[in-house]
Amino acid sequence: MSASRAPLPTGSHRTTGPAETEALAARVAAALAPGDVVLLAGDLGAGKTTFVRGAARALGVSSAVTSPTFTIGQRYDGDLPVSHLDLYRLGDLADEDPALLADYLGPDRVAFIEWPQTAIPLLEELGMTVAARVRLEHAGGDAREITVEAA
Ligand code: ADP
Ligand code: MG
Repeated sequence: MSASRAPLPTGSHRTTGPAETEALAARVAAALAPGDVVLLAGDLGAGKTTFVRGAARALGVSSAVTSPTFTIGQRYDGDLPVSHLDLYRLGDLADEDPALLADYLGPDRVAFIEWPQTAIPLLEELGMTVAARVRLEHAGGDAREITVEAA
Protein backbone atom coordinates (compact mmCIF):
# COMPACT_ATOMS: atom_id res chain seq x y z
CA MET A 1 0.00 0.00 0.00
CA SER A 2 1.35 3.41 -0.90
CA ALA A 3 0.65 6.84 0.52
CA SER A 4 -1.23 7.92 -2.60
CA ARG A 5 -4.03 5.49 -3.21
CA ALA A 6 -5.31 4.61 -6.62
CA PRO A 7 -8.96 5.24 -7.45
CA LEU A 8 -11.30 2.31 -7.02
CA PRO A 9 -11.90 0.63 -10.42
CA THR A 10 -15.66 0.98 -10.23
CA GLY A 11 -18.00 -0.42 -12.83
CA SER A 12 -18.39 -3.69 -14.63
CA HIS A 13 -15.41 -5.80 -15.70
CA ARG A 14 -15.29 -9.07 -17.63
CA THR A 15 -12.46 -11.46 -16.80
CA THR A 16 -11.61 -14.58 -18.77
CA GLY A 17 -9.77 -16.53 -16.08
CA PRO A 18 -8.56 -16.49 -12.47
CA ALA A 19 -5.42 -14.48 -13.25
CA GLU A 20 -7.48 -11.61 -14.66
CA THR A 21 -9.76 -11.68 -11.64
CA GLU A 22 -6.70 -11.52 -9.38
CA ALA A 23 -5.35 -8.59 -11.40
CA LEU A 24 -8.60 -6.69 -11.02
CA ALA A 25 -8.55 -7.45 -7.30
CA ALA A 26 -5.03 -5.99 -7.10
CA ARG A 27 -6.40 -2.74 -8.54
CA VAL A 28 -9.12 -2.71 -5.90
CA ALA A 29 -6.52 -3.39 -3.21
CA ALA A 30 -4.51 -0.37 -4.35
CA ALA A 31 -7.47 1.84 -3.42
CA LEU A 32 -7.78 0.56 0.14
CA ALA A 33 -6.78 2.14 3.44
CA PRO A 34 -6.60 0.71 6.97
CA GLY A 35 -10.10 0.13 8.35
CA ASP A 36 -11.55 -0.61 4.92
CA VAL A 37 -13.77 -3.60 4.26
CA VAL A 38 -14.55 -5.11 0.86
CA LEU A 39 -17.83 -7.06 0.71
CA LEU A 40 -17.98 -9.91 -1.80
CA ALA A 41 -21.17 -11.31 -3.30
CA GLY A 42 -21.65 -14.14 -5.77
CA ASP A 43 -22.55 -17.80 -6.02
CA LEU A 44 -20.28 -20.61 -4.89
CA GLY A 45 -17.46 -20.90 -7.41
CA ALA A 46 -17.97 -17.41 -8.79
CA GLY A 47 -14.46 -16.43 -7.76
CA LYS A 48 -14.79 -14.57 -4.46
CA THR A 49 -11.87 -16.37 -2.83
CA THR A 50 -9.83 -16.02 -6.02
CA PHE A 51 -10.48 -12.27 -5.89
CA VAL A 52 -9.37 -12.10 -2.24
CA ARG A 53 -6.21 -14.03 -3.14
CA GLY A 54 -5.27 -11.42 -5.75
CA ALA A 55 -6.04 -8.54 -3.42
CA ALA A 56 -4.12 -10.05 -0.52
CA ARG A 57 -1.12 -10.68 -2.75
CA ALA A 58 -1.17 -7.04 -3.82
CA LEU A 59 -1.29 -6.03 -0.16
CA GLY A 60 1.94 -7.91 0.52
CA VAL A 61 0.56 -11.20 1.81
CA SER A 62 3.00 -13.93 0.83
CA SER A 63 1.42 -16.99 2.44
CA ALA A 64 -1.18 -19.09 0.65
CA VAL A 65 -4.67 -17.59 0.64
CA THR A 66 -7.31 -20.30 0.77
CA SER A 67 -10.95 -20.57 1.83
CA PRO A 68 -11.38 -20.52 5.58
CA THR A 69 -12.87 -23.96 6.21
CA PHE A 70 -12.93 -24.76 9.92
CA THR A 71 -13.00 -21.14 11.05
CA ILE A 72 -14.93 -18.05 10.00
CA GLY A 73 -11.78 -16.38 8.80
CA GLN A 74 -8.05 -16.14 8.31
CA ARG A 75 -5.63 -13.41 9.28
CA TYR A 76 -2.57 -12.62 7.20
CA ASP A 77 0.43 -10.39 7.63
CA GLY A 78 0.93 -8.14 4.66
CA ASP A 79 2.07 -4.53 4.36
CA LEU A 80 -0.71 -4.18 6.91
CA PRO A 81 -2.82 -6.89 8.58
CA VAL A 82 -5.29 -8.46 6.15
CA SER A 83 -8.35 -10.52 7.11
CA HIS A 84 -10.42 -12.83 4.97
CA LEU A 85 -13.78 -13.94 6.32
CA ASP A 86 -16.29 -16.38 4.86
CA LEU A 87 -19.51 -16.25 6.84
CA TYR A 88 -21.44 -18.73 4.67
CA ARG A 89 -21.82 -21.23 7.49
CA LEU A 90 -22.34 -18.70 10.22
CA GLY A 91 -25.90 -18.37 11.41
CA ASP A 92 -27.51 -15.19 12.54
CA LEU A 93 -24.79 -13.26 14.34
CA ALA A 94 -27.41 -11.69 16.56
CA ASP A 95 -27.64 -15.12 18.18
CA GLU A 96 -23.90 -15.61 18.21
CA ASP A 97 -21.16 -13.75 19.99
CA PRO A 98 -20.25 -10.61 18.02
CA ALA A 99 -16.83 -10.85 19.67
CA LEU A 100 -16.19 -13.68 17.21
CA LEU A 101 -15.63 -11.01 14.59
CA ALA A 102 -13.43 -8.83 16.77
CA ASP A 103 -10.52 -11.20 16.20
CA TYR A 104 -10.68 -10.42 12.49
CA LEU A 105 -11.89 -6.85 12.20
CA GLY A 106 -10.41 -3.56 13.35
CA PRO A 107 -9.30 -0.08 12.24
CA ASP A 108 -5.69 -1.13 11.66
CA ARG A 109 -6.46 -3.72 9.02
CA VAL A 110 -8.12 -4.37 5.70
CA ALA A 111 -10.81 -7.05 5.54
CA PHE A 112 -12.51 -9.02 2.77
CA ILE A 113 -15.80 -10.69 3.63
CA GLU A 114 -17.61 -13.38 1.64
CA TRP A 115 -21.31 -13.81 2.54
CA PRO A 116 -21.09 -10.64 4.67
CA GLN A 117 -24.76 -9.97 5.51
CA THR A 118 -24.60 -10.88 9.18
CA ALA A 119 -21.43 -8.85 9.78
CA ILE A 120 -22.55 -5.60 8.18
CA PRO A 121 -24.38 -4.20 11.23
CA LEU A 122 -21.28 -4.78 13.40
CA LEU A 123 -18.62 -3.22 11.19
CA GLU A 124 -18.95 0.33 12.41
CA GLU A 125 -18.56 -0.51 16.09
CA LEU A 126 -15.47 -2.53 15.20
CA GLY A 127 -13.95 0.55 13.60
CA MET A 128 -14.32 -0.49 9.99
CA THR A 129 -16.09 1.03 7.02
CA VAL A 130 -17.29 -0.57 3.82
CA ALA A 131 -15.05 0.75 1.05
CA ALA A 132 -16.29 -1.39 -1.84
CA ARG A 133 -18.87 -3.95 -2.80
CA VAL A 134 -17.83 -6.52 -5.37
CA ARG A 135 -20.27 -8.83 -7.16
CA LEU A 136 -18.99 -11.76 -9.20
CA GLU A 137 -21.18 -13.63 -11.66
CA HIS A 138 -20.58 -16.60 -13.91
CA ALA A 139 -20.57 -15.52 -17.55
CA GLY A 140 -19.99 -18.86 -19.30
CA GLY A 141 -16.95 -21.12 -18.94
CA ASP A 142 -14.14 -19.26 -17.22
CA ALA A 143 -15.63 -15.85 -17.90
CA ARG A 144 -16.85 -13.75 -14.99
CA GLU A 145 -18.72 -10.47 -14.85
CA ILE A 146 -17.36 -8.52 -11.90
CA THR A 147 -19.00 -5.33 -10.70
CA VAL A 148 -17.11 -3.03 -8.33
CA GLU A 149 -19.08 -0.38 -6.48
CA ALA A 150 -17.82 2.24 -4.09
CA ALA A 151 -19.81 2.01 -0.88
P1 ADP B 1 -15.95 -18.65 -4.43
O1 ADP B 1 -15.07 -18.17 -3.33
O2 ADP B 1 -16.82 -17.57 -5.03
O3 ADP B 1 -16.76 -19.86 -4.06
P2 ADP B 1 -13.49 -19.58 -5.66
O4 ADP B 1 -12.63 -18.39 -5.94
O5 ADP B 1 -13.18 -20.42 -4.49
O6 ADP B 1 -15.02 -19.09 -5.65
O7 ADP B 1 -13.49 -20.53 -6.92
C1 ADP B 1 -13.58 -20.05 -8.22
C2 ADP B 1 -13.14 -21.16 -9.14
O8 ADP B 1 -13.36 -20.79 -10.50
C3 ADP B 1 -11.65 -21.43 -9.00
O9 ADP B 1 -11.41 -22.81 -9.19
C4 ADP B 1 -11.06 -20.60 -10.13
O10 ADP B 1 -9.82 -21.09 -10.59
C5 ADP B 1 -12.13 -20.78 -11.19
N1 ADP B 1 -12.20 -19.69 -12.19
C6 ADP B 1 -12.27 -19.88 -13.52
N2 ADP B 1 -12.36 -18.72 -14.17
C7 ADP B 1 -12.32 -17.75 -13.22
C8 ADP B 1 -12.37 -16.33 -13.28
N3 ADP B 1 -12.51 -15.64 -14.45
N4 ADP B 1 -12.30 -15.66 -12.12
C9 ADP B 1 -12.20 -16.31 -10.94
N5 ADP B 1 -12.16 -17.65 -10.82
C10 ADP B 1 -12.23 -18.37 -11.96
MG1 MG C 1 -14.97 -18.64 -1.32
